[in-house]
Amino acid sequence: MADTHAIDTWKAVLGDLQLQVNPSTYETWLKDTQGVSISDNLLAVEVATPFAIEWLERRMYQSIQSTAQKIAGRPLQVQFQVRNTAPSNGSESPVADDQRPAHRTIQTPQYRLNGKYNFNSFVVGPSNRLPYSAARAVAEAPGRSYNPLFIYSGVGLGKTHLLHAIGHTCVSEGLSFIYVTCEQFTNEFITAIRGRTTEDFRAKYRSVEVLLMDDIQFISGKEQTQEGFFHTFNDLHNSNRQIVLTSDRPPKALALLEDRLRSRFEWGLIADVQPPDLETRMAILRTKAEQMDLGLDDSITEFVAKKVQKNVRELEGCLNRIAALAKLTGRPITLELASQAIADFMPDLSRRSASPDRIMEEVNRKFRVTNDDLTGASRKKGIVRARHVAMYLLHEALGMKDTEIGRLLGDRDHATVINAVGKVNYEINVDSQLRQDVLDIKEAIFS
Ligand code: ADP
Ligand code: MG
Repeated sequence: MADTHAIDTWKAVLGDLQLQVNPSTYETWLKDTQGVSISDNLLAVEVATPFAIEWLERRMYQSIQSTAQKIAGRPLQVQFQVRNTAPSNGSESPVADDQRPAHRTIQTPQYRLNGKYNFNSFVVGPSNRLPYSAARAVAEAPGRSYNPLFIYSGVGLGKTHLLHAIGHTCVSEGLSFIYVTCEQFTNEFITAIRGRTTEDFRAKYRSVEVLLMDDIQFISGKEQTQEGFFHTFNDLHNSNRQIVLTSDRPPKALALLEDRLRSRFEWGLIADVQPPDLETRMAILRTKAEQMDLGLDDSITEFVAKKVQKNVRELEGCLNRIAALAKLTGRPITLELASQAIADFMPDLSRRSASPDRIMEEVNRKFRVTNDDLTGASRKKGIVRARHVAMYLLHEALGMKDTEIGRLLGDRDHATVINAVGKVNYEINVDSQLRQDVLDIKEAIFS
């Protein structure tokens, strides 16, 4: 039996953590967790896999622990346990909309669609009208309008939401489709090569009417996967199957991408999602509040919408915090409560605590180099690596422009920076020492 106090407390902790960690960490490791029971000093939380538990305990235990104590106002130990595999009565259905379950697609469970990400729940405004309309168009007539459809934007602006929405339409239209993140695609492809099952792999992807691939930017630098994706793309495109891709930047800004893929990405329609204006942000908050059964006064909606401007996910994070505080204290949602709940909110906390200086300091510590090494001309292996990691972190964690990064690190040109970033992006997948180093540095900066 679900314990509502445990659920609410953990939700409040999540609301807070969402503002502390970067969005992909949150999505990957925290979002699908759930509070199950709570006692005086123990909060049990269910997590999908043993691996996720290990990751959370190794990487985030400190911040989870201290956040839980802060929220509960008393010492509270968080204990993770693996979720029962029996389907819960939660709101996320394994295969998308439950509207017409008769239309089973060939999705496997790991490609779950979020039931909340559909076209109806997507608030349309000037900032996202083009990608929204294009997504609808391809969902209604796959392969016949824009192919591929390439959607890009900064984080938290609705790309994944739109992809899932197309997936839901496929479900209700009985179209076969695959929704896959670039990382999943890469893993599957590599597994197929290792197991000599590339034919099966190819047949599987070739057989669908719609391919939805999220975060294609991660294909940068992965030459083998690019080769595999090139064939998949051609197979599908030649037979008028729809391809939809999302990315955090336009094709021409994707570093380390083969030209033949880049040009294919540009064949159809490229649409970008801009940060929503104030009115749209308010409309989004109203929609979310409604979904959460939360009565929100316009003054509160406006207050929050003015505070968070660039990222819809953060808007939601604020709303979660407000809801949690109201629920835990039993107080009504007033402007006062709202401002208290998000008092210490600063847009994108992870970026706030990271500065170029902090990043360089931690890189120096980790690689035993100095700022002069980073900005200087030395080609020593260790120094070059440290310099590359610094560029990577300034780019990934801080979102600095490549030209600025180049200037900061000894007046290097932006192509050098792009190459370094792509290189590290690739190498952290294959070099576990480097992965460890980068994680350590991130942890030192962000925790
Ligand atoms: P991205 O993939 O671009 O990083 P997501 O699709 O994950 O962003 O969106 C982040 C969150 O913001 C999701 O919960 C999504 O539902 C919500 N969101 C983004 N844009 C909108 C919108 N226009 N209307 C409603 N919700 C939105
Ligand atoms: Mg996304």
